[in-house]
Amino acid sequence: MAHRRLGRLAYGSRYDNVPWGQRVYVRPGERLIRETQWQWLIRRSPVVSLEEYQRMRPLGEIEEFLSCMMCGESRQQPLFQPTGGSGKGWRYHVTRCPACGFLYRNPNVRPERLGDLYATGYSNFLTGKYAANRQRRYDLTMKAFSPVFDEGKERRLLDFGSGVGLFLELAEQRGFDACGVDLSPESVAQANERLRRARTYFGAPEDVPEISAGGFDVITLWSVLAHLPRPLEDFRTFRSLLGPGGVLLVLTVNARSLLLKAYGSTWSGFTKNHLMFYSSTTVRTLLARTGFAGVAFAPHYGDTIEAGTTALRPDLTRRLRRNVELSDGGNMMRMLAFADEEAIGRWSGPLTIHRLNP
Ligand SMILES: [Zn+2]
Repeated sequence: MAHRRLGRLAYGSRYDNVPWGQRVYVRPGERLIRETQWQWLIRRSPVVSLEEYQRMRPLGEIEEFLSCMMCGESRQQPLFQPTGGSGKGWRYHVTRCPACGFLYRNPNVRPERLGDLYATGYSNFLTGKYAANRQRRYDLTMKAFSPVFDEGKERRLLDFGSGVGLFLELAEQRGFDACGVDLSPESVAQANERLRRARTYFGAPEDVPEISAGGFDVITLWSVLAHLPRPLEDFRTFRSLLGPGGVLLVLTVNARSLLLKAYGSTWSGFTKNHLMFYSSTTVRTLLARTGFAGVAFAPHYGDTIEAGTTALRPDLTRRLRRNVELSDGGNMMRMLAFADEEAIGRWSGPLTIHRLNP
């Protein structure tokens, strides 16, 4: 609670009505303070060999130790220990790759035991109040990458990790020829009840003939990237499933978020089932290594700001927007990856394209 007392000292009660998630972006000078804190943390946290690290950490039954999946570096810089839940709860360790800056859970979950994380009750989590917020977030993100999602026009869309079908419902309403895959059988069953034309399937894309045939125009990963234990393999699959001119849309938590720099282990992006945490830099490595030609990012200002329902004063809203842009995009990272030059030519529009060299 030391940061609350310091905040009181520096800013008085002027920002008490501003929600926590927005405060770090609107209090004068706070962005620079948090960036400096982060630099200190990186400079003073020790870097250890993987062998040394393995001696420091217990290994759970469903876990394995990893080296950096983005660059292959094995050394570890232990940074965070997120915890949560009541009673027995959960806890894991997050390390930073000292070579490329990638943040990941280590030990991580063995891919074949991933099902254990989603065994029961996950589909309940995906419905209810959560559902309305999610659909609004889909809408705002599609708008940020207009015109890709404005009209489906029978284009083929795959939603990877489609859950209970909330996004597929929007996609079929917009005229996409849409389908999905998910690892939770109960979510797939619920989705297929909800949907009219779109269909979801249980399992991996390569196990479903309708999907493994490929030729997709759009693939979407809504809050899925941080859950992937083998991202390189999955992204190679996505690249091969996209047809010429195809695009991949990703929404995930942003590992460069000012909120992570401010709150550390208690950051909202460290949820129970998240495995890896990407920034606009590390995700470029992932895309380049798996054959994508380019990528564009859309800063995330927060759902209430983008929907125009915020109670924040206009001058503070302007300050928030500026600080989101200066601090690499806000608490969520939104990006559109382009399979090839044809995709860049067709869809880049007003977006700034970063070309990727393999
Ligand atoms: Zn690395």
